[in-house]
Amino acid sequence: MTNKTNRIGIDIGGTKIEGVLVDDAGTVLSSCKAPSRPGEEQVVEDVCKMVSALTTDSVPVGIGIPGQVDYLTGQVKNVVNLGVEQLDLAERVSSRTKSPVHVENDVNAAALGAASIVASELPEGSSVAFVNLGTGLAAGLVISGAIEHGASGTLGEIGHLPADPNGFQCPCGQRGCLETVASGGAVSKLWPSQNPPMPDLIDKAARGNHLAREILGKVVHAIADTVQITVQAYDPNLVIIGGGMARTGQPLLDSLIAELDRRAADSPFVTSLDMPGRLRLAPVNQPIGAIGAALAAI
Ligand SMILES: [Zn+2]
Repeated sequence: MTNKTNRIGIDIGGTKIEGVLVDDAGTVLSSCKAPSRPGEEQVVEDVCKMVSALTTDSVPVGIGIPGQVDYLTGQVKNVVNLGVEQLDLAERVSSRTKSPVHVENDVNAAALGAASIVASELPEGSSVAFVNLGTGLAAGLVISGAIEHGASGTLGEIGHLPADPNGFQCPCGQRGCLETVASGGAVSKLWPSQNPPMPDLIDKAARGNHLAREILGKVVHAIADTVQITVQAYDPNLVIIGGGMARTGQPLLDSLIAELDRRAADSPFVTSLDMPGRLRLAPVNQPIGAIGAALAAI
């Protein structure tokens, strides 16, 4: 039976591709997963295979992918993890599947997916910021259930705000970018003993390990900077923490709220922002990137 409101969402990551078939409310009807392969032809092939595995109907397809994405044309550039330099992804997938295809940056897609789950009770017009603490650091902004893109698509690229002039050199050419301290990738470098490092770092710091306390202090300070910048720049109803680091769960939230409370203690202005009250963790057991890609499909 054909349901015309069903859509497909595909989330392409550096190691895996996840796909979902959802109804118009975003409820997942079926899902699948496969390892991702590098190369332009392989990416197109893997996406088309997943689309036909999810449905034989021609339904709108949304795709989330890292790198520079032109959401208007569906062209993607510089997807380093997948060895893609330039790919007309929407056009290539659409011509093979005969379905309309829409492409979004992966963080924007995850923002939309997380907002649809975490903020479903908020009134019309609400805004939700999604802070992705993954290999890199970037934010997405969803207003009234739609992704905000800005004038040139760089809205939310806050990972490359140079917050510390004495900080680490960043591959982007600046020094002390938030991403060099606050991202999951950065913590893996600063505390390489465990994978994932954050739960172990928090545990060792709680047990009084001096190095762990020093590193955790810097990391949490930079994440708090990220949250504060997000709140002051966008004033969203909610800030959802996502990405691999969100899997740390409550201990991460507790450390972050302790730092935000420290800032509020000295400042009526910071107190008035009520940052802890706006914080949520992204759901870790749902494919939010694929769900958001489906919701972004036209
Ligand atoms: Zn940078």
